[in-house]
Amino acid sequence: PSQERVFNFAAGPATLPENVLLKAQSDLVNWRASGMSIMEMSHRGKEFLSVIQKAESDLRALLRVPDDYEVLFLQGGATTQFAAIPLNLCTSQDSVDYMVTGAWGDKAFKEAQKFCKPNLVWSGKANKYTTIPSFDEFEQDPDAKYLHICANETIHGVEFKNYPVPKGKDKVLVADMSSNFCSKPVDVSKFGVIYAGAQKNVGPSGVTIVIIRKDLIGNAQAITPVMLDFKIHADNKSLYNTPPCFAIYMCGLVFEDLLEQGGLESVEKKNLKKASLLYGTIDGSGGFYKCPVEKSVRSLMNVPFTLEKSDLEAEFIKEAAKEGMVQLKGHRSVGGVRASIYNAMPLAGVEKLVAFMKDFQAKHA
Ligand code: PLP
Repeated sequence: PSQERVFNFAAGPATLPENVLLKAQSDLVNWRASGMSIMEMSHRGKEFLSVIQKAESDLRALLRVPDDYEVLFLQGGATTQFAAIPLNLCTSQDSVDYMVTGAWGDKAFKEAQKFCKPNLVWSGKANKYTTIPSFDEFEQDPDAKYLHICANETIHGVEFKNYPVPKGKDKVLVADMSSNFCSKPVDVSKFGVIYAGAQKNVGPSGVTIVIIRKDLIGNAQAITPVMLDFKIHADNKSLYNTPPCFAIYMCGLVFEDLLEQGGLESVEKKNLKKASLLYGTIDGSGGFYKCPVEKSVRSLMNVPFTLEKSDLEAEFIKEAAKEGMVQLKGHRSVGGVRASIYNAMPLAGVEKLVAFMKDFQAKHA
């Protein structure tokens, strides 16, 4: 990174591309000679409308979002979607299915209990969330209105490599993609809803993106607050109330950057290269470092690992920070080390980390 910037392995808010930050820096004071900061403009003015419209069309291009899907820019984080999903997609008496492959899926499942009748169709808790089953290993309710998954578990580092087919009557698959959104191509048409907080791969915190098939909009439960009603937001093109203008603007810059990089196929290639370098180093360490996640479902984005001598973990994290590699501490619920290597983490950051890991091992073996 440039002089004072560190390699930031945080899980979110996470590192952003430096070229994007530099671009934003100039727009902060005077956006395209408008005489105003991007943060000072009316969300109903033509300047901001051009920003949100371009962000949407670039995201549609990146993910090849089919025309029968809405793209919404909302607030409240992915956590708010844990409630909005059941409120919009089912009645309080409806059955819905949840596969729980980590802490975030579990939170989504628990929140849904307030608004409908969720079934836990599979849980990885007994295996400390290190696996994903093959999809014929668990039953789904034929009456379920949707099947919910968390596509990438940020804390446990477990990522779906292909997706279950929902077997409920409406065949609706819903995915929390907060931590692997835009990290690889996705066939949007397989999903009823995809939602993602921006602050890992595509922007700062403050905006949550929802991609939803249009026929699923318009049936919200009567108690649904307006701010959680997808129809309100779709009818108003995400401008029902004041949107998180700055966060949407930043996402737009990131989408532009991802398109310039060649789109999500080329982004995925870079992500695969970074992840295989890091997992290869862990697996090749003769047990000094260990990743508990089953190989076939290891996340390309969040790489949790432990040290065989666990009393060395604090020193590992401290020494790494001294060398400009920060935020490597594992989530407080699981401990250990976690390196989040989202789109914006350059290969050089991962190369520096693995060189440090080898040195550290040589010193302490
Ligand atoms: N889902 C996943 C997979 C996450 O990683 C997170 C946050 O880290 C959330 C949901 C919650 O997101 P937010 O803090 O934006 O509500």
